[in-house]
Amino acid sequence: MTKPLFAFNFVGLRVSFSAAALISFGVLALAAAALAGWLAHLRLGPALAAGALSALLFFVFELLHQAGHAVAARLTGYPMRGLHFFSVFARSLYPDDEPDLAPRLHLRRALGGFGVNVVLGLLSWPLAAYLFPRGTEILPPAVAVAGWLAAFSAVTNGLILGLGALVPLRLPGGGLTDGGTLLHYWRELRAE
Ligand SMILES: [Zn+2]
Repeated sequence: MTKPLFAFNFVGLRVSFSAAALISFGVLALAAAALAGWLAHLRLGPALAAGALSALLFFVFELLHQAGHAVAARLTGYPMRGLHFFSVFARSLYPDDEPDLAPRLHLRRALGGFGVNVVLGLLSWPLAAYLFPRGTEILPPAVAVAGWLAAFSAVTNGLILGLGALVPLRLPGGGLTDGGTLLHYWRELRAE
């Protein structure tokens, strides 16, 4: 695991960040500002505000995703101890001295995250459809920024932190995505 740069406590979970995480959020803010400027026809100031708010929202969406895992983990009786942001994404952390758990408990913990984001994505969709500027339409900057943020929420929650989390992949620096964890323990369950 990369060394934490700083950490804080959030509802009993230790939330830590690597230096790469801070840089990643900065890159996300700039990329979102460029996209918002282009797609929602924003001037530089509102585009930069949209970019910074997008990075902040993504952080909150990932935190809520991890809160979903934390609730699911608590319900299994084997709670998470924290989460570590290694990029704009975080890894759930469990105690090192945890006993070997039944595959179905791992499955329940891994399933706790993505649903939160699918719901957030679906809730954002109508707002995005209503507020996002159409064609070359010029809206008041606050409305255009709100439209961008709703669309950003619909796409990042629905496709990245929601359905995207179910794509089985290996994470840089070790570990698996939720999809990778689900596949691993589903195979173990079938082999039992
Ligand atoms: Zn997850």
